[in-house]
Amino acid sequence: MDKQNRKAIIAGNWKMNKTATEAAALIDELIPAVKDATCEVVICVPFTDLTTAVAKCKGTNIHVGAENVHFEKSGAFTGEISADMLVDLGVEYVVIGHSERRQYFAETDKTVNKRSRAALAAGLKPIICVGESLTQREQGVTEELVRMQTKIALNGVTAEELKNVVIAYEPIWAIGTGKTATAEQAQEVCAAIRKVVGELYGEEAAKGLTVQYGGSMNPKNAEELLSKPDVDGGLIGGASLKAEQFAVIVDAATKG
Ligand code: PEP
Repeated sequence: MDKQNRKAIIAGNWKMNKTATEAAALIDELIPAVKDATCEVVICVPFTDLTTAVAKCKGTNIHVGAENVHFEKSGAFTGEISADMLVDLGVEYVVIGHSERRQYFAETDKTVNKRSRAALAAGLKPIICVGESLTQREQGVTEELVRMQTKIALNGVTAEELKNVVIAYEPIWAIGTGKTATAEQAQEVCAAIRKVVGELYGEEAAKGLTVQYGGSMNPKNAEELLSKPDVDGGLIGGASLKAEQFAVIVDAATKG
């Protein structure tokens, strides 16, 4: 029942793929393929594709996101991009704390929190990624870890700001590996995320929170994953680079 009141969001995470020219071609394919979606459709694209993506998606039902944002407003941070810069381009969402950033670029729970707060202060909607490694799952600490990641990410985020937050549960062992969490595993952890948000902000706020699953979601498994009561959408890597595959997932969210 609660699920109907939440925004289902299917977001593509293109990672470091697609030149601006290639992005334009993919968006041209995506626009007709997802035009009848009843869920929110988002594409999170490399910084160099943002201008093209915002221009192409104007007047369509596709929303544009970035894949990272710096936490300072401006200054001597060579190579970084601020939240204001993204907002000025017309960007709406931003992925924060993806496991690839945690693994390869020394992202920590603390910087995830700083980036999330900077994004929210500028009016962006952060898609905050949390999730365990295979070792952590095998050690039985998934729930504790995801609770801790969620709590730290949201430290200092107001109840009003929470309305713009999306949390993506992304088990690291399922990202780009072809191994998907079972629908039951995804449900269990997405529910745990909602529970901790309820403890922090109250049950009503938690009921309104969009919690996505990400990790090798594809046209074959999307419907089952998205049918679960606490799985409100998906963050999609590989399958978001093929318009027809992404469209099938969008369609599954519409049904879920
Ligand atoms: C991701 O990059 O967030 C992701 C879930 O990737 P994939 O769908 O390829 O596993």
